Amino acid sequence: MQTEGFTDTDITALAALFAPGPAVILTGAGISTDSGIPDYRGAGSPPRTPMRIHEFMDDLRYRQRFWAGAAVNARRAPVIDPNAGHLAVAAFERAGRLNGVITQNVDGLHGRAGARELVELHGNGDTIRCTGCDRRWSRTEVLGWFEKLNPGFVEQHRNAAVNPDGDAEVGDVSAVQVPQCPQCTGILRPDVVYFGEFVPVPVFARAEALVESAHALIIAGSSLAVNTGIRLVHRAEKRGIPIAVINRGPTAVDARADLRIEGGTTEHLVALAAALGVRA
Ligand SMILES: [Zn+2]
Repeated sequence: MQTEGFTDTDITALAALFAPGPAVILTGAGISTDSGIPDYRGAGSPPRTPMRIHEFMDDLRYRQRFWAGAAVNARRAPVIDPNAGHLAVAAFERAGRLNGVITQNVDGLHGRAGARELVELHGNGDTIRCTGCDRRWSRTEVLGWFEKLNPGFVEQHRNAAVNPDGDAEVGDVSAVQVPQCPQCTGILRPDVVYFGEFVPVPVFARAEALVESAHALIIAGSSLAVNTGIRLVHRAEKRGIPIAVINRGPTAVDARADLRIEGGTTEHLVALAAALGVRA
């Protein structure tokens, strides 16, 4: 069978990489595009615009605008669900075909699909963390605090225009009360590694440990523009385990990949599930 975008040969070669034992998968934005999250825009709404995290920390007005926009968007944005690619990955792990899942995405979709040994290199936009005491809450819970602090705000802005970045035009935010940590009154921020910040050492160490114990590294839906991903590829190369890349468009490691499949992640992961006899 020859389906548009991939061949049986690709899938057979990919499936063969799993023969010696569990592999590890590293995913990027490409796996979430089929859930309706646009590539390159930072999954997990907001911030759809690149978050200027230093401004966020330094400037109350920036935080007022952030939380106001987040609260309004949360009521209007459709809920985004894991797609067949995320479900296939979770099924591979359940079936013992993967020792874990490493992702560059902050959309939380692997976790919602059922991934267990999950390393979210850049954090999770659905988690809010206190910069003072490091406690964490769900975004939904903190947005509930926002609504209590700012009664009527979300209703008043329900029909606010949407700017080109997909964020609500919330207008004057000078009166907006920003939620703060109930324990230590610290500044709350999304638990996400933004541009200019570093992946926390223990998080990277967990990813590295997965690569160390895997029999192959599968890269799906990432061009590997991010340095952390490249470092994991280096680990795999040092160990001499095979590297496979499934991506739409060129990647930084195409020349080093033992298997390079051009195309979307979802259809290939679903076909791989069939080839491995794993029920997604
Ligand atoms: Zn705190």
